[in-house]
Amino acid sequence: MGWSQRIDEALTARRAADGWRLRRRVEHNSVREIMLEGQRYRHFSSNDYLGLSQHPAVIAAWQQGAAETGAGAGASGHVTGYSRHHAQLEAELADWLGYSRALLFISGFAANQAVIHLLAEKQDRIFADKLAHASLLDAASHSPASLRRFAHNQPESLAKLLATPSQGGTLVVTEGVFSMDGDSAPLTQIAAETRRGNGWLLVDDAHGIGVSGAQGRGSCWQQQVKPELLIVTFGKGFGVSGAALLCDDATADYVEQFSRHLIYSTAMPPAQCYALLAALRQIQQGDALREKLRSHIARFRAAAADLPWQLVDSASAIQPLIVGENSAAMALSQRLAQAGCWVSAIRPPTVPPGTARLRITLTAAHHTDDIDRLLEALYDAAG
Ligand SMILES: *Cc1c(COP(=O)(O)O)cnc(C)c1O
Repeated sequence: MGWSQRIDEALTARRAADGWRLRRRVEHNSVREIMLEGQRYRHFSSNDYLGLSQHPAVIAAWQQGAAETGAGAGASGHVTGYSRHHAQLEAELADWLGYSRALLFISGFAANQAVIHLLAEKQDRIFADKLAHASLLDAASHSPASLRRFAHNQPESLAKLLATPSQGGTLVVTEGVFSMDGDSAPLTQIAAETRRGNGWLLVDDAHGIGVSGAQGRGSCWQQQVKPELLIVTFGKGFGVSGAALLCDDATADYVEQFSRHLIYSTAMPPAQCYALLAALRQIQQGDALREKLRSHIARFRAAAADLPWQLVDSASAIQPLIVGENSAAMALSQRLAQAGCWVSAIRPPTVPPGTARLRITLTAAHHTDDIDRLLEALYDAAG
């Protein structure tokens, strides 16, 4: 089959499955509100949980950074793209999270590819939570290591896999807070099983960092585990973009020496490091923001319990309602839009078949009234 035919068939199948993904052109996005196609909506689909993308100090830092250092890094960090601003951000992240080293990447997707691609060799095995993010599962399945998935958030299922003999290394992969379900991994048990099986643990805390744990240090800090490899990303709670790997000295040196994703890629703009340092300050002093978010979550969950859709057991800012069929999820999303609330429907293959959902996200930028209006719209839609 040639490319053209393959492309046609894939597109036809996606349309037929109500799976077509539309990238809407957003005209304005203030975290709390979004404007598209000339319409304003209350916004419940942002991962910017603390509203930092709109924070004046973060914006001013990026502007100042650009004025002082220019728009871009100009080269890979291994050539001339690594500045004292990158070094300062890495040092502060490592210090904040209790690791000896941090290494910056341009995105969480890139960081996960880099780390797994570098570590996983032929004789190795990777055990990943069944619901781990595409960036983790893709990297693992494209690596020469074998990939097995354990039942979502079930340490016993992981333990069974760990009990089988192996010649090589074992990498256990999970998330702090799951991106499409919002539930938290039982990291204490997962870390204990991993240790018992002589493996290394990689935790991707894209949705926990900045939001959970003391000072926003994330899921691992909160559950008092220190994985060998911690990935934090800056496009969510930090409100910016980029990512970092936290690890020990030798691992960081290994990544720095051998990671092709790092070596052959332009460093993040130094101005972005300014913005990230400013966002880090806001996060460190962000107890009031986190408290506000927590109260929104509690308010939403208390009132949403009687809705006819399954509310996932999630304590995080991600509060999905499982609707089931793609078309039903799309229809509900449209219904809410008519009522002025923007909530994106998430469909397979991002989530398992038959679990299309509304992925509601709450943020510290919301007002109590936004939460109430969303609930009202949901109960109206439920009939
Ligand atoms: C969003 C996300 C990523 C990707 O991070 P980006 O910085 O957006 O590339 C990786 N892992 C998880 C769990 C995510 O939710």
